[in-house]
Amino acid sequence: MQALAIMYHDVVENGDFESSGFSGEGAHVYKLRHQDFVRHLDAIAAATSAVSTVHKLEGRPVLLTFDDGGVSSHHPIADLLESRGWRGHFLITTDRIGTPGFLTEAQLRELDRRGHIVGSHSCSHPTRMAVLTRAELDREWRQSIARLSAVLGDAVKVASVPGGYYSREVAESAAEAGIEALFTSEPTARVAMLNGCRVLGRYVVQRGMEPRWSAGFAAGSPSYCWRQSALWKAKRVAKSLGGKTYLQLRQAILDRKA
Ligand SMILES: [Zn+2]
Repeated sequence: MQALAIMYHDVVENGDFESSGFSGEGAHVYKLRHQDFVRHLDAIAAATSAVSTVHKLEGRPVLLTFDDGGVSSHHPIADLLESRGWRGHFLITTDRIGTPGFLTEAQLRELDRRGHIVGSHSCSHPTRMAVLTRAELDREWRQSIARLSAVLGDAVKVASVPGGYYSREVAESAAEAGIEALFTSEPTARVAMLNGCRVLGRYVVQRGMEPRWSAGFAAGSPSYCWRQSALWKAKRVAKSLGGKTYLQLRQAILDRKA
């Protein structure tokens, strides 16, 4: 099975990157301006009619995902998706619920009621998920799922891995906690199955990427999908030199960009 999942984060008004989600330039590079996000959605609409959710994986569906649980998930993101008849996947950092810049419990219930998928993005958003002990991983998944399930009054079975650090153990822990669909940050259309949990890769869209990237991912265009995959593999080599080295390098690159 294949799926074309695209990963977004916050969408902000007037370039106010502090207004939603995590702070700092490392987080801000993933946030899009409202007018740019609208252009990305227009490009997706022109490229495909297959926007769907994990509840309906038929053909090669396009899945729109939004990490972190910033308040912009509610407005404008959900409104903009609904105006096209689409629903999104909102993955929530549960320790941040109700804190400045993040969704409240009432907003989470509203997203759920409006037909969006609300899932876990861990409790604390560890920088390097894959280096946690199994006990720490279990706690991140179980407690975040328990919190969300209590808020929504329904079992939560969808999650995404924070920070892009994935390992088999991260997925095994998620599966054991009851997750049936886990989004990673690996740019691939392949859907893997692990202990009853679907593991779905995602293509990331960051600030500065033109709408044609979203369209390319949504159409499964090799020139876009493969290019991101090649870049990701090169980065993985850099990461293998040492997680700390990679994070410092990444931060240096991001700082220079800013
Ligand atoms: Zn995140």
